[in-house]
Amino acid sequence: MIISIAKEATPEELDGVVQRAKSLGLDIQLNSGTDKTVVAILGSNTGQLPTDIFAVLPGVESVTRVMKPYKLASRDFKPEDSIITVGGVEIGGNRLVVMAGPCAVETGEQLMEAAKAVKSSGASVLRGGAFKPRSSPFSFQGLGEAGLKLLSTVSKEYDIPVVTEVVDSHDIDMVSAYADILQVGSRNMQNFTLLAAIGRSRCPVILKRGFSCTVTEWLTAADYILAGGNEQVILCERGIRTFEDSARFSLDITSIPVLKRHSHLPVIVDPSHAAGHYTLVPSMARASVAAGADGLLIEVHPNPKEALVDGLQSLTPAHFTTLMSDIRSIARSIGRDV
Ligand code: PEP
Ligand code: MN
Repeated sequence: MIISIAKEATPEELDGVVQRAKSLGLDIQLNSGTDKTVVAILGSNTGQLPTDIFAVLPGVESVTRVMKPYKLASRDFKPEDSIITVGGVEIGGNRLVVMAGPCAVETGEQLMEAAKAVKSSGASVLRGGAFKPRSSPFSFQGLGEAGLKLLSTVSKEYDIPVVTEVVDSHDIDMVSAYADILQVGSRNMQNFTLLAAIGRSRCPVILKRGFSCTVTEWLTAADYILAGGNEQVILCERGIRTFEDSARFSLDITSIPVLKRHSHLPVIVDPSHAAGHYTLVPSMARASVAAGADGLLIEVHPNPKEALVDGLQSLTPAHFTTLMSDIRSIARSIGRDV
């Protein structure tokens, strides 16, 4: 249930609404927007409550039931776009944000070279996995905390924020001590224990789409993080599994405008994991920008042939430079800065 507070309502009237909800044992979240304040009434039995309980209170403009399963990620709760600021970089604003780097942190040298290359071509966030959720237990699992330390060193050296994946709720404090943005991978999009724990942290997070999940399931998963009070959620489309097997996954470009319509959260696209092959990445990246993505997450490796993970889908620094120049033209043609 969403309660719109009248513009002229007093703080006492707003408090009256909050106290009424609490007296009924309901949870609430406030969105104090520039235009108006909205109170989301949360709980499993709100469907049984008559809206009049709140509509009669002074200061209440309107009460609406949100029929979608997700509430806090919805534009009904927050009509204005969310902008998330990380180390001076705004995600979700007019400027397109490109995050790039290797799939996995392998060595200090590899990460340093990658950081230097992607930053000089215009990327504003460095990616690199220290904990890798691999399909096989025999594949390289990442360097763990040693990889996080390298990320933090390189981040300082090149003055660039870093994003890295967290796969276990017990590691959240450790990972967020080194990284600027946490990443929840596709395979963990519905790991509700992990999501709830990240909701209790105050670290920005990229929530990747589960490759078998609908947009509604994705936004409902985002609510797990938002419900804990962590408002810094960025959605990342990374392709879904369909009957089509000519690429690793099918990039769902449609989800970009769909998310923009129904949610206030920033949307970025990872064309690398969707493509599975470096030759497909540039066109999918360009299409994502044209479709309205707020940013991109791209795998770039200084030497893809030697990569321990995902070398086939990684761009070389030279490929990445060319792509950045194409992206700039597309972004400008739709009125965005890069
Ligand atoms: C990644 O970005 O490192 C990754 C593993 O991607 P995904 O979770 O989308 O497969
Ligand atoms: Mn990868």
